[in-house]
Amino acid sequence: MAEKGTVVLGVDPLVIQDHYEIDYRHSYAEDSPFFVGLSKGKLLGSRCTKCGYVYATPRSHCMECGAPTAWHELPLRGSIHTFTTCHYGGEAFLKETPFTLILVEFDGANTLFLSRLKGIKPEAVRIGLPVAARFAKMPSFKVTDVWFEPADPHPPLPPAP
Ligand SMILES: [Zn+2]
Repeated sequence: MAEKGTVVLGVDPLVIQDHYEIDYRHSYAEDSPFFVGLSKGKLLGSRCTKCGYVYATPRSHCMECGAPTAWHELPLRGSIHTFTTCHYGGEAFLKETPFTLILVEFDGANTLFLSRLKGIKPEAVRIGLPVAARFAKMPSFKVTDVWFEPADPHPPLPPAP
C-alpha cells in the first residue's frame, strides 16, 4: 500500500482526507447459513417454530413470541414495498451511485428485505414493481452477493395523470 499522506481540504472547519484500510476477520456465527445460501442462489429467511411468523431475514428467535426460528427459503421474486435513491454510499457502493435501495415484499413473509435494485433508472422505480433476486457469480459472502432487478424486462409505465 502506498502511503499518500494527509490532504487538507479545508481549514474552517478543518477537513482532512486520509487513506483508511484494514484487514479484519468477521464471523457470521449463526447467520452463516444465510451467506452460504446467497452463494447457492438461495434467500434464507427465518420462520418461527411456534407461531409461524416468517422473517425475510436471518433471526434466531421470534420477536412476536420469543420461540426459536428455523431457516425458511424465501421466493426469489417479490415486489417493491418502498425505495430510496442514494447519491452517496460506503466504499462498496460509491462506483454505483446513484443507486436504489429497496425493501422487498415476498409472498408468505411477514417482514421486508433490504437490498439494492439494478437494471432500472431510479426515476422509473415504482412501489409494487415486481422484482427478481440476482446473485453474484463469484460470491464474496457479503450481503452484496444479492440484489434485485425488475422481474419483467420492460416494466409497465406508471398510469397517466
Ligand atoms: Zn413466534
